[in-house]
Amino acid sequence: MTAVHVPGTPVIEDGRLVSTSPATGAEAGRVPVASVADVEATVARARAAAPWWAGLGFTGRRERLLRWRAVLAKRIEELAELVHVEGGKPVPDAIVEIVTAVEHVDWAARNARRVLGPRRMRSRLVLAEFSAHLEYQPHGVIGVIGPWNYPVFTPIGSVAYALAAGNTVVLKPSEYTPAVGQWLVDTFAEVVGEQPVFSAVHGLGDVGAALCRSGVDKVAFTGSTATGRKVMAACAESLTPVLIEAGGKDAMIVDADADLDAAADAAVWGALTNAGQTCIGIERVYAVEPVFDAFVDKVVQRADRLTVGADGADIGPITMPSQLDVIRRHIDDALARGGRAVLGGAEAVQPPYVRPTVLVDVPEDSAAVREETFGPTLTINRVRDADEAVTLANALPYGLGGSVFGRRRAVAVARRLRSGMASVNSALTFAGMSTLPFGGVGDSGFGRIHGEDGLREFARAKAITRRRARSLLPAMTFDRTDADVARLVKVVKMMYGR
Ligand code: NDP
Repeated sequence: MTAVHVPGTPVIEDGRLVSTSPATGAEAGRVPVASVADVEATVARARAAAPWWAGLGFTGRRERLLRWRAVLAKRIEELAELVHVEGGKPVPDAIVEIVTAVEHVDWAARNARRVLGPRRMRSRLVLAEFSAHLEYQPHGVIGVIGPWNYPVFTPIGSVAYALAAGNTVVLKPSEYTPAVGQWLVDTFAEVVGEQPVFSAVHGLGDVGAALCRSGVDKVAFTGSTATGRKVMAACAESLTPVLIEAGGKDAMIVDADADLDAAADAAVWGALTNAGQTCIGIERVYAVEPVFDAFVDKVVQRADRLTVGADGADIGPITMPSQLDVIRRHIDDALARGGRAVLGGAEAVQPPYVRPTVLVDVPEDSAAVREETFGPTLTINRVRDADEAVTLANALPYGLGGSVFGRRRAVAVARRLRSGMASVNSALTFAGMSTLPFGGVGDSGFGRIHGEDGLREFARAKAITRRRARSLLPAMTFDRTDADVARLVKVVKMMYGR
């Protein structure tokens, strides 16, 4: 990379990764770039720290994690400002992101023992002479690879749960947001200074690839589907398990009995918050014919009011300059194929900004409907009924989240969406519900962060049986007699043969 600055595009200068504001080009942070040897050394230190961190037990880790949560909460404005400068995100959006992350740290810390701790399981009649014990033990070192669009919420969705489960963590933040990643590591070190329990390695994609090959015990990747495939391939070499949180093309369905004002509010928020750079952002709406026109009008009215700009605006710049070409291509393609822009359009792309764009009657095979746009754009297409909406919503390889507005059938429709999550009469709200698992299906990935499943994702089940009495029906021994086996046959027929 050269030092010619396109605002927002990171550069490497004298072995340091320099991140800049996509709005102003101002420097946001400067961190050392890790070599392969540095990545390996960081993982080795994290591995050496793992027994100490695991040894603190659930209580010790809970106490430390709650102290970190308090630091995040107390310094929320400082972190929001850094997120704003480095990624261009409006400060209020950054605040909402951090609030959600703080809630996840709190829940993971408080619930790890209940979900993962040792417990007795029931014995069944067949092995009644044994007691059964289950616990979830940490993997060791977790490698977390994060994207730039939610540089606090997204890594913390893995990091907090992995730490609560007793693992140490090495984070590779996106090259676009290294300063935020380092801030998280530095503040954690303020409450856990004894050992490198949570550390970061910085650089471009090759540093992420090196982390996959470094011998970590599991990789939690959040990013694009294309990179997810590479991460999985790299991890396959060493049979390192992976969690993949990838892209999406989430749909909202607006049924005939929906509250249209609420639906329009949620569609505009879900599509345009963070300039549409949201994995679970609403990118498509299917509204049933009777409410279509009224709904579109309400969306346009609301979206048209939003301000676009560097500071104090509703919509900030596009964080990754190269994404502007993708957004422009999707808008152009939709219009060329007969779609109509009822707000914005081709001229909405004014680097580094994109003005809100609402496209209607867009062909289902166009890029704007099929591919992740990651910009402040929304397609709204009309459908006969909710059934057709579900068919179209489910027609893509992606399956991350989704939203349904309606009364009578809304929950039933939400259950039929081929996605890991859905919100009824709201948008994106499942992401902040720390009791619920978060993750996708198909091209959106697999595995779950958040909630009980998210804690278990970062631990392995350890099953133990313990003899508590002599076996009345000895089976698992060569000392068994023919009579024992005959009795076994009799019992199994009696118990299961009916
Ligand atoms: P990328 O896939 O480009 O990058 C994600 C991370 O992977 C970055 O840290 C990147 O480093 C790193 N990386 C790049 N190449 C490799 C490699 N070969 N091996 C290992 N790591 C590598 O995604 P973006 O950062 O552009 O994020 C946007 C995407 O993330 C969208 O598709 C969005 O939907 C998805 N996302 C999914 C979420 C979910 O929970 N499902 C949540 C948030 C976003 P570098 O930046 O240095 O290239």
